[in-house]
Amino acid sequence: MRSYTYRIYPADSPHYERCIGLSWCPGCRVYTGAMVHVPRDRALPDALAALPPEHRERLLNSESRLIDYLDGHMEAAQ
Ligand SMILES: [Zn+2]
Repeated sequence: MRSYTYRIYPADSPHYERCIGLSWCPGCRVYTGAMVHVPRDRALPDALAALPPEHRERLLNSESRLIDYLDGHMEAAQ
């Protein structure tokens, strides 16, 4: 299984610590997404940091698209 956790609220939001944790199987693409709590002071690696904002947004709007992207770009990070 692979996993990726990301923040969905801006740093000034009271919900900042509520993140999405995605886990998936790269073989059959079955995935689960769940709300996870990540303390404010823990830095999460941002796999989309290099993307232009509109591309980023498109991926974050669709968990399956995001997983497609991550599957192609995460190898180096693991
Ligand atoms: Zn599988």
